[in-house]
Amino acid sequence: MQIYMVGGAVRDRLMGNAVHDRDWVVVGTTPEAMTRLGYVAVGRDFPVFLHPETHEEYALARTERKSGRGYRGFVVLTSPDVTLEEDLSRRDLTVNAMAAPVDWDGSPHAVVDPYYGLRDLHDKVLRHVTEAFREDPVRILRIARFAARFADFTVAPETIGLMSEMVSDGEVDHLVPERVWQEIARGLMEHRPSRMFDVLRACGALRVLLPELDRLWGVPQRAEYHPEVDTGVHAMMVLDMAAQLDAPLNVRFACLCHDFGKGTTRADVLPRHHDHESRSVDLLEQVCERWRVPNDARDLAVVVAREHGNIHRSGDLNASAMLRLFERCDAIRKPERFEHALLACECDARGRLGFANRPYPQRARLRSALQSVLDVATAPIAAAAARRGLKGEAIGLAIADARRDALHEWLCHETDNAPRDGGEAGHASA
Ligand code: ATP
Repeated sequence: MQIYMVGGAVRDRLMGNAVHDRDWVVVGTTPEAMTRLGYVAVGRDFPVFLHPETHEEYALARTERKSGRGYRGFVVLTSPDVTLEEDLSRRDLTVNAMAAPVDWDGSPHAVVDPYYGLRDLHDKVLRHVTEAFREDPVRILRIARFAARFADFTVAPETIGLMSEMVSDGEVDHLVPERVWQEIARGLMEHRPSRMFDVLRACGALRVLLPELDRLWGVPQRAEYHPEVDTGVHAMMVLDMAAQLDAPLNVRFACLCHDFGKGTTRADVLPRHHDHESRSVDLLEQVCERWRVPNDARDLAVVVAREHGNIHRSGDLNASAMLRLFERCDAIRKPERFEHALLACECDARGRLGFANRPYPQRARLRSALQSVLDVATAPIAAAAARRGLKGEAIGLAIADARRDALHEWLCHETDNAPRDGGEAGHASA
């Protein structure tokens, strides 16, 4: 029995990156022998074991044969005769198909590399290992995700060609929603998330998985607000700005969806996009349904899609209008979510050609204005209203009055450092 380190751990160590999870492959043994050695069986579909002490994963070398559509359609073969090369051949990318001995010192010379992963690592190329790549459409999502992580790598043209064929063959139609969301969510959290969508677009998978985004390319916007003009280009700039600002997943997802409605603007009114906000909401809700996106991600995306224009122009709002904005965003009950909405709006404002370093004062300003509302002590107001014989809705109105007064006060005392019109960025259009 021989044990090798495989996959991402070998790749990352060769790249000089931190290694998080180490995966191992075991050649020339049986499940029974593993159990006898104290390894704990965990695999449902194929023999994977946990080391009794390190709890790292040890998988028996295996081959896979396609038996049906989608990523579950596989027959797995394990036997002590399956070789290391055979196991490596079923892996997605050459840079993920290298193995190293147990006592590896990190040197490239000791690496078992039948598919030239070292060469591709050196040349910074993401390349499929064999034609068997086409058997699992999840690999398309994985490559796109790796492109977002390793931003200076390119995808080999023949791999793009193979992925395009898979898309034409309908393979992508059979991906299960949870798996799509899982991979997309991981890709969104990478360093340059736009590259994931570039790769999905290049092979045609984006049109199938996310037509709401795909159709934004080629749609113009007004150049005075959007010097990049193209809506798809803008969406990607917003997303990369979110990564640059280290935004959490929900914010990145909201950035992705915020302008979906611009893809359905009637051609005769372009490059204006009246009412794209409500169309964005409808479209993103369909996406969330389709991919089973978690509710908290969906809810933030809805707020951002609907309100981003109002937040950009919030410098023009009086106390009543500002309170209505907070109420529509449920900001008083959910200030943290509102904070995330403000961050997404900043990404939208700065994710434009030449705008990356512009200030976005709306964010600090609305945060401060909301704080003045949160500081209103509602219990005494409700008690006083009750003493005056008011009930239910009328008490709610008394609280709203107090909050409006607080906002009015806040607006009157706003310092010159926080310009009312939000400065240049205050004129950002949706
Ligand atoms: P990450 O750093 O994102 O964890 P990783 O390469 O370690 O990347 P894992 O999902 O942990 O990715 O998978 C471990 C290894 O298993 C991969 O490096 C690859 O060799 C192989 N692998 C995983 N999923 C697939 C797949 N769908 N098709 C082919 N090989 C795969």
